[in-house]
Amino acid sequence: MRIVVLSGGIGGARFLAGVRAYARTAGADVTAVVNVGDDVILHGLRICPDLDSVMYTLGGGADPERGWGRAGETWTVSGELAAYGAEPTWFGLGDRDVATHLVRTTMLSAGYPLSAVTEALATRWQPGVRLLPATDDRLETHAVVTVPEAERADDGAAQRAIHFQEWWIRHRGALPTHRFVFVGADAAKPAPGVLDALAGADLVLLAPSNPVVSIAPILAVAELRDALVSGPAPVVGVSPIIDGAPVRGMADRCLAVLEVPCTAAGVAGLYGARADGGILDGWLVDETDAQSAVPGVTVRPAPLWMTDEAATVAMVRAAVELATDGGRSA
Ligand code: GDP
Ligand code: CA
Repeated sequence: MRIVVLSGGIGGARFLAGVRAYARTAGADVTAVVNVGDDVILHGLRICPDLDSVMYTLGGGADPERGWGRAGETWTVSGELAAYGAEPTWFGLGDRDVATHLVRTTMLSAGYPLSAVTEALATRWQPGVRLLPATDDRLETHAVVTVPEAERADDGAAQRAIHFQEWWIRHRGALPTHRFVFVGADAAKPAPGVLDALAGADLVLLAPSNPVVSIAPILAVAELRDALVSGPAPVVGVSPIIDGAPVRGMADRCLAVLEVPCTAAGVAGLYGARADGGILDGWLVDETDAQSAVPGVTVRPAPLWMTDEAATVAMVRAAVELATDGGRSA
């Protein structure tokens, strides 16, 4: 069995740990297609937060408390940059993490595409799944916000598009926000291997990642989305919303920008039923959301708290069962 998972960072990484454990017992092979919309260049370094969260988590190198970055991290470089007054100072850049970004940036500068760089970094971490960026092309999530008066540029414009990282980390997602834009998405092509993985998949899973800023930027790559909509494999999503709230993170704020209800059914409606040109065949919701109804989609309840790997494996098993006996046959 071949499983493809669309994933963001921390939530996606946890889910993927469960998919990997499931795959080991079921003899399945796993490809993760990971969001690059959060990627940013800071201090000359190319940083890929979601790819790194997945790579460190699956490779046993992630900080379990923070959920992002390296375990045993130190912050000497950040302190030195701050002493120079080098902006931005709001992005956490650990010393161990910097080594990853140096290797990545050096390889990109030498002409290697991000997919090849990711494969090279993964030879160290051995994540046990194939890691692919959604695209090798530039695709950046920006938020169109109303800027506080004191921070307006000379033209006085009230609205400005800022990078997702600035929106979330610097402003804590708190600025009045009008929409998200995936800069570069129109021209972006799926990274090498993505379309083949989807064409050969027996099952596609959507991790319970942020639907607006982790999964939507992946789906903004038109050929990738088309391959899901018209592909042979059933697509089953796992709800990141339990009982009207995101388990962790900011999906509620992001959904509010889109005026989508922060509910399991609201997120499924955003993805849409494959029967109606959307992407979902099946939707796994938490038991507290068992009453959720999504037209055209098979909804099934299961415990969705990823409290430990065993709980996550049980979620994955429920998603596989939904695909094989509930959605389109696998
Ligand atoms: P990020 O890119 O690091 O923000 O991580 P993701 O987008 O991959 O995942 C963030 C999402 O994971 C959040 O919106 C949460 O709702 C969801 N999430 C985190 N933990 C859990 C969990 O235990 N169960 C479920 N169902 N969702 C979770
Ligand atoms: Ca992310």
